[in-house]
Amino acid sequence: MADPARLAMHQGTTPFWTLGQAVEAYARHGFRAMSVRREKLAEMGASAAAKVIADAGLEVIGLSGPAAMTASDPAERRRQLEENQRAIDDAAGVGAGFIVVIGGPLTPGTRDMEASRQRMADMMAELIPYARERGVKLGLEPLTPMVAGENSCVNTMQCANDMCEALGDGVGLIVDLWHVWWDPNLRAELARAGGDNLLGFHICDWRVPLTDRFQDRAMMGDGLIDIPRIEGWMREAGFAGWNEIEIFSAGDWWKRDPDEFLATCAQRYRTHV
Ligand code: ZN
Repeated sequence: MADPARLAMHQGTTPFWTLGQAVEAYARHGFRAMSVRREKLAEMGASAAAKVIADAGLEVIGLSGPAAMTASDPAERRRQLEENQRAIDDAAGVGAGFIVVIGGPLTPGTRDMEASRQRMADMMAELIPYARERGVKLGLEPLTPMVAGENSCVNTMQCANDMCEALGDGVGLIVDLWHVWWDPNLRAELARAGGDNLLGFHICDWRVPLTDRFQDRAMMGDGLIDIPRIEGWMREAGFAGWNEIEIFSAGDWWKRDPDEFLATCAQRYRTHV
C-alpha cells in the first residue's frame, strides 16, 4: 500500500479550474504536492504562483507543457529551443524540480524515427547546461506508442533509459502508468534507472474499451493496471518522490462534480494504490 503522505495531484487532472481554484481544492482534499501545467502559469506568473501554492501548504513537483524538440527546419528548431528555455525559466520561477519532456513526434515530413529521436537528444543536450544553471532537470516521459506519430518518438522505458544514460547528469525519467503499464521490461528498467533518475510518477488506470487515446484515463481501481505492484517496483528501485494522480477524462470525470472527482481520487488512492 502506498504511503498516504505521498499523495499528490497533477494539474492536468483539473483543466477546468484556474491555478488558484486548483490549489485551494487540492489543499482542501488533502493533497500535499502538485505538478503545474505551464499554460496555467500565465494567469498570474511563475513567482506569484509559487507563493499561492506555498501559502496553501503545497509543494511544487514538476512543470509540464514544454515545447516539442524534433523540428528539422532551422528556424522552427530555434523557436522550439527558445520555447523550452522559457519552460525551464518558468520551472525555476515556480520552484519545480524538473520540466516534463515528451520531446515531440516524428519529425514532420519524414518517416525516420531514429533521426527524430536524435534531434530530440541533441536539443536536450543543448538544454541541459541552461537547465542546470537554474536548478532544473529534464524529466523525460515515454509515451504510449499509440501517440508516436503525434506526440512523442520515445515510447518505451528502455528507449528513455538509453537516452538518459547517453545524456548523463541533468536528465531523469517520469513514469506514467497509463503509458508504460504494459511493458514486460518495466520492473527491470525501473531498477536500471534507480532512485536518482526516477523524478516523477503519474497514476491513473486503463479502461477497457478505451474510447479516446488522450482523454479516457480511468480512476484507480476501475481498470486493468496492478497499481500497488508497480508502485512497489518504483519504491524498490529507490524512488523517493510523490505519487501524482493524473487523470484526463473528458467523457466521464470531467463532466461530474469536481469535488466528487477529487474526493474519489483521494479515496481510491487509499484503497487502490
Ligand atoms: Zn503523465
